[in-house]
Amino acid sequence: MTRDADCLFCKIVDGQVPATIVRRSERSIAFRDIAPQAPTHVLVIPKEHYVNVAALAAEAPETLTEVVREASAVAADEGIEAFRLVFNTGVQAGQSVFHVHAHVLGGRDMTWPPG
Ligand code: AMP
Repeated sequence: MTRDADCLFCKIVDGQVPATIVRRSERSIAFRDIAPQAPTHVLVIPKEHYVNVAALAAEAPETLTEVVREASAVAADEGIEAFRLVFNTGVQAGQSVFHVHAHVLGGRDMTWPPG
């Protein structure tokens, strides 16, 4: 299993940092964002450490598929038909945790383009 000892989300996978986990699959977990930006704001991450979605797509495309499938399942679990799926990639795009995560956002009206 690929791990980064200093990575916050690896610590959540390992149970060293608490999180409200809402789904688990073979290769992913989903947990509530600590600072929710919408009524539903869940992060879906692979259990293995990849820095961003580009690395995940290149190195483990089947895991990326599973992350997206789980994100869709989170929306269904939450009873929301519409949701936004966001992979912030790079500092300028707003990425602050460098373990790839899909933000599942929904439950309110949203605007476009995002800020
Ligand atoms: P990003 O800015 O796209 O890298 O997203 C990182 C997200 O992780 C932010 O929305 C944070 O609120 C969230 N976050 C940071 N620490 C935790 C934590 N311990 N548990 C749950 N979510 C967290």
